[in-house]
Amino acid sequence: PPQGLKPGQIKDPKIAALFSTKDPDARFDDLKEIGHGSFGAVFYAFDKERGETVAIKKMSYSGKQAAEKWVDVIKEVQFLTSLRHENIVEYRASFLKENTCWLVMEYCIGSAADLVDVLKKGLREVEIAAICHSTLSALSYLHSLGRIHRDVKAGNILLNDAGCVKLADFGSSSMVCPARTFIGTPFFMAPEVILAMDDGEYAERADIWSMGITAIELAERRPPLFNMNAMSALYHIAQNEPPTLAPVEDGSPSWSSAFVSFVGACLKKEPGERMTTAEAQQHAFVRSSFAPYVVVELIARTKRLVKELDNNQYRKMRKLMLLDE
Ligand code: ADP
Ligand code: MG
Repeated sequence: PPQGLKPGQIKDPKIAALFSTKDPDARFDDLKEIGHGSFGAVFYAFDKERGETVAIKKMSYSGKQAAEKWVDVIKEVQFLTSLRHENIVEYRASFLKENTCWLVMEYCIGSAADLVDVLKKGLREVEIAAICHSTLSALSYLHSLGRIHRDVKAGNILLNDAGCVKLADFGSSSMVCPARTFIGTPFFMAPEVILAMDDGEYAERADIWSMGITAIELAERRPPLFNMNAMSALYHIAQNEPPTLAPVEDGSPSWSSAFVSFVGACLKKEPGERMTTAEAQQHAFVRSSFAPYVVVELIARTKRLVKELDNNQYRKMRKLMLLDE
């Protein structure tokens, strides 16, 4: 994209229409950084026009590989604008300013990974079931549209104060199914996605594998193989038996057979043997789970812990408390 590109200067009308021509600095106040990624940072902000708190993902498209970054920005904005589901983070608007796209979304208090970080231990089974239940609703919707998320993990599953679970981060998602591109977060990648590096394709059940890895991450704080470097982990996933839940420590209750069975059915190496999205939604582990109540309780439990943290740690986790202050 040319430097200092403004929406009025974009030739393709479909792309120009994605962006508001207004100045975002005039509309959003009180920006505070709450997340960081490869693209830039995510901010908490107050939307003066609508009188509500929002989250803004700022993605820069200048410097090295500006053209590639611009393509990624368009892809992510287009992807999010075309989705509407109670378990997908709600899109508000996009702006361009100083070679940066401002992607405005509903505000969530943080990701499931943020909560696990504060709690310093895995979640309870009912909490994992609630998060998986809602994530699967979002995946079922995406898959029905012929799309694949490709980066399902606790860091991309957000929670809001009402206890709703919202799948987010469509920066790696595919508009087509089957797909061939090698993309995702190594520890969470399905064997067939890793093997597609050479040759071959994969479909929506790659997300069900990542859902199984995410369930282990929520239970144990880290995905399997987390101590390995990314290359070794990829090799390991492709070559070895699928991971399972680790035996619980002495004194803790052991995992239910429904949970063990759910993880096992997500983590079949052969996609044809793996649960479909519909089967996963009907699995006994998630079927009767009820998200809002359990998640509201989980958030309250986490916030109580943040309040007890020493000053230094509290500052790190302050983002979870922004609406309470
Ligand atoms: P990346 O592509 O770098 O992974 P994400 O979209 O996943 O970017 O955002 C990075 C982090 O920012 C998330 O893990 C989360 O902690 C925070 N974040 C993203 N979107 C929101 C939101 N709508 N509300 C609150 N926090 C968010
Ligand atoms: Mg992410």
